[in-house]
Amino acid sequence: MRIPRCFLIGDNVWTVKFVRKFNWDGVKDSDLMGLCDPEKQEILIKSGLKPIERLETLVHELFHAIECEYDIKIEHKLIYKIEGLVTKLLVDNFLGKV
Ligand SMILES: [Zn+2]
Repeated sequence: MRIPRCFLIGDNVWTVKFVRKFNWDGVKDSDLMGLCDPEKQEILIKSGLKPIERLETLVHELFHAIECEYDIKIEHKLIYKIEGLVTKLLVDNFLGKV
């Protein structure tokens, strides 16, 4: 599945970029699969992930982008809990095989 390079979220366009490494203080690079940068309105996804991991990471970061755009707080634990469910829903209903 091709990941769109930008999303309209609220009134803003967010860009999706694939990166080999993250520059993020205090987080081990190997632990990270994605990042959401509210200042640049960018979603960064580690390159080289399996397609299903890539989609799940995108869904996770989109929740963070939604938090920023709509000024709401979603517990991180909840995002982890539902990211897989939303990914499955997308695959089963819209995307077919990823
Ligand atoms: Zn997160």
